[in-house]
Amino acid sequence: MTTPPIVSNPEQVECVVIGAGVVGLAVARALALAGREVLVLEAANAIGTGTSSRNSEVIHAGIYYTPGSLKARLCVQGKQALYAYCAERGIGHRRCGKLLVAAHLDQLAQLQGIVEKGRHNGVDDLVMLSQTEAQAMEPALRCEGAVFSPSTGIVDSHALMISLQGDLENAGGMVVLNSALERAVGVPGGVQLFTQDGTCLQANMVVNAAGLHAPAVAARLQGLAAHHVPQAYFAKGNYFTLAGRAPFSHLIYPVPQAAGLGVHLTLDLGGQAKFGPDVQWVESADDLVVDPARGDAFYAEVRQYWPELADGALIPGYAGIRPKIHAPDAPACDFLIQGPATHGVAGWVNLFGIESPGLTSALALGDYVVAQLAAIK
Ligand SMILES: Cc1cc2nc3c(=O)[nH]c(=O)nc-3n(C[C@H](O)[C@H](O)[C@H](O)COP(=O)(O)OP(=O)(O)OC[C@H]3O[C@@H](n4cnc5c(N)ncnc54)[C@H](O)[C@@H]3O)c2cc1C
Repeated sequence: MTTPPIVSNPEQVECVVIGAGVVGLAVARALALAGREVLVLEAANAIGTGTSSRNSEVIHAGIYYTPGSLKARLCVQGKQALYAYCAERGIGHRRCGKLLVAAHLDQLAQLQGIVEKGRHNGVDDLVMLSQTEAQAMEPALRCEGAVFSPSTGIVDSHALMISLQGDLENAGGMVVLNSALERAVGVPGGVQLFTQDGTCLQANMVVNAAGLHAPAVAARLQGLAAHHVPQAYFAKGNYFTLAGRAPFSHLIYPVPQAAGLGVHLTLDLGGQAKFGPDVQWVESADDLVVDPARGDAFYAEVRQYWPELADGALIPGYAGIRPKIHAPDAPACDFLIQGPATHGVAGWVNLFGIESPGLTSALALGDYVVAQLAAIK
């Protein structure tokens, strides 16, 4: 990387957030509500065109994550904050609940473990159901038993992002589109940021919320030691939509798999069902085309809990990519939120590995980052 020149009279702004996905917007909103002057730099020509518009739109309960982890804490806090925020602002959402199903008898013990983990995380409304009880709730379901999670729901993620942007702007902040951050350099009293069109800004605080590109953005900050920048890995999740109506009113999840939650059934607010996401490790963050051939594996997985799924009913849908910071064969990582205390660059915070439950956790992530930056004047 060439060394960026230091500009003598750059435009000054107190805080810059890089990336206008749901997390960047939530962080920017929280900073603005805390009285900070905030500018969001977004590379694309609209907000929320990255992973934030390519997910399941599920408000997760907080069941699966290691107790005490950021994922566990921020998911549970974020879920409560999100339900309250959606209700207050009239953002489309539904607390529809989900069934986590054991397709085989030997998965029942796993379900019990998940209930215990959920309780450790403060999710104390989980109910173990027998086969009969689960099938009474969802007659088309085949399972040996299930866990019912009443606090799982769905949200209109686009309406959420528009509302976050509105709050940001009402508090004096701004989103600047078509403004990819190209390089950055720490200077006394802040960081100078250079966008692709040659603009230079100087900020006291910078939050790197660039999602899949957060490691690449961090690597462009002169002065940040390379060992603080994790290797980015991309785990694509493909979805297939269902032709016709699904005979389910709850979300249906199998027991989780290594890098994802298993091919599950989710509903959108209009009642349209989709299945996914699967896990396909890819080389590029732009590899978003769904290969229809992957449908074969979907039929097999879905029929484990819905045997009546008809041939030809699955239609290739869309794909999203998980911003992983661990290799395919390594255990899953927690969210990695890295501030000056870790990497030594004053005023700079990196948000790495903000995969699921990032949407659910967004409001809590905003508060967390504000607290991290509270000491900076
Ligand atoms: C398949 C899948 C399913 C998921 N399902 C769920 C779910 O049901 N529930 C849930 O809670 N979470 C879910 N998630 C996770 C959730 O979608 C993400 O955690 C969340 O959307 C991340 O938001 P973000 O703002 O960090 O990233 P993004 O939405 O990717 O936003 C990053 C932004 O940064 C911009 N950017 C990148 N580089 C630059 C640059 N150099 N300069 C300026 N801007 C830049 C991008 O254009 C983009 O707009 C899922 C994720 C995937 C992949």
